[in-house]
Amino acid sequence: MSELLQTDYLVIGSGLVGMAFVDTLLTETDAHIIIVDRYAKPGGHWNVAYPFVTLHQPSSYFGVSSKELSQGEIDQIGLNKGMGDLASGAEVCAYFDDVMRQRFLASGRVQYFPMCDYVGDGEFKSKLTDKTYTVRYRKLVDATFLAIDVPSTHTPNFRVVSAAQFMPLNNLPKISKKPAGYVVIGGGKTGIDACLWLLEIGVDPQDITWIRSRDAWLLDRANTQPTAGFFSSSVGSIAAQYESIGSAESIENMFDRLEESGYFLRLDKTVRPTMFHAATISKAEVVQLQRIKNVVRMGHVKAIEANRIVLTEGIIATTVDHIHVDCSASLERSFGHKEPSPIFEKDRIMPQMVRAYQPAFSASMVAYVEANYDTEAEKNRLCGLVPTPNQDVDFIPMTLAMMMNQFNWSQDNALRKWIKNNRLDGFTKLIANVDKADHEKMAVLSRIQQNASSTMGRLQQFNVELAERSKK
Ligand SMILES: Cc1cc2nc3c(=O)[nH]c(=O)nc-3n(C[C@H](O)[C@H](O)[C@H](O)COP(=O)(O)OP(=O)(O)OC[C@H]3O[C@@H](n4cnc5c(N)ncnc54)[C@H](O)[C@@H]3O)c2cc1C
Repeated sequence: MSELLQTDYLVIGSGLVGMAFVDTLLTETDAHIIIVDRYAKPGGHWNVAYPFVTLHQPSSYFGVSSKELSQGEIDQIGLNKGMGDLASGAEVCAYFDDVMRQRFLASGRVQYFPMCDYVGDGEFKSKLTDKTYTVRYRKLVDATFLAIDVPSTHTPNFRVVSAAQFMPLNNLPKISKKPAGYVVIGGGKTGIDACLWLLEIGVDPQDITWIRSRDAWLLDRANTQPTAGFFSSSVGSIAAQYESIGSAESIENMFDRLEESGYFLRLDKTVRPTMFHAATISKAEVVQLQRIKNVVRMGHVKAIEANRIVLTEGIIATTVDHIHVDCSASLERSFGHKEPSPIFEKDRIMPQMVRAYQPAFSASMVAYVEANYDTEAEKNRLCGLVPTPNQDVDFIPMTLAMMMNQFNWSQDNALRKWIKNNRLDGFTKLIANVDKADHEKMAVLSRIQQNASSTMGRLQQFNVELAERSKK
């Protein structure tokens, strides 16, 4: 017999998106909320992340709006030296646990059901007891759309013979005997993290083979620092971005200009990236990764056998004494099959990206709009979907959608004020606090203003070109 529960909002998922959404909803309303999640603790994929994971962006604007995550420190050592602290996976999990207990549950308005599978139609079931629950709710919040596959839980889409040594990067710290070499599979952020960790531990770069089916455009972490000391790189990178796009003669030329201006980085100057997943990296990390010379660009892995690795465009040798490190869980595989749909649809809310690269801010924004605006049409207008990029050219519709949202938000005084005071917003405060007598900073802002409309125009033109190309 199913237990009957009643609430205002039934939220599926207590990952970053679910947590950031609920936090803002609690602040903005007096609603009651039920949160259901399969995991034992809040934090989503951070519960199963590799032990050496850290955030890719400064902690100061990650997490939920009401609670600081950053220690307020500037790293003094390592490859993030001189920049804002990056929380470790353990810190992120502890933080979400704290938010759940001290804020959500302590409010008396949130009920949390961990270790439960949501099965649809307001029903969920405990994985441990089989007990089922039926919820009568006002709104259902599906906070799972942005959920991503991670190496520890995904199933690789290639064959691995039992004789081969194969592991997700999570298991690297468990290695107790030097292998013949390491083969890292995947050119995304987890592949980068695996290579950086091996190099940091002292593995000879010659002992690392890195299978990168595609090279990526990367973002420079120096441009993501939300502090006055980094104004010229962070806000300056927006100015550089607008100038590069606004004056670009073609799509290819736009990427060249974005790289020249320091907006994009890449690992190998001789290989044109075709992927863009918004992975963020420091220049010191790029230098380390460039020490790895055995880069295999032969497409995707099809099979790992005892003595060879079969790829879509060739075969390379391996041995049973090599360790093959799985970093192949990708954004493409996480999102490729998902159909984006309006965030607000009748009694269902599905938080998605409304500002590129910023899932936490986006989820908080969706909750604010839900709480403060009346009609579905107005809510969806303010929360236009910003598509998640995969190919390099996806940067175009992504940036265009983000700029259109930004413009719509700027027309609404109350919303503008809320954004400025939201901890999850990186740069608005920084820009708003510029002293008008500071000519250097004012010059950066003026470059942004001067190039905004040409940037929009160029992105619209390139977007049409992309549509034409896809017809051919
Ligand atoms: C290595 C790494 C580093 C990252 N660094 C950053 C960073 O620096 N900055 C940043 O902004 N983002 C970063 N991200 C991305 C970010 O942390 C989030 O992963 C992303 O936005 C997705 O969060 P989510 O809550 O949608 O998904 P998840 O974390 O996957 O959470 C989804 C939750 O939904 C639950 N769930 C799904 N289906 C059901 C169901 N049917 N029933 C019950 N529960 C269900 C799952 O158990 C899970 O807990 C990083 C991601 C990775 C992998």
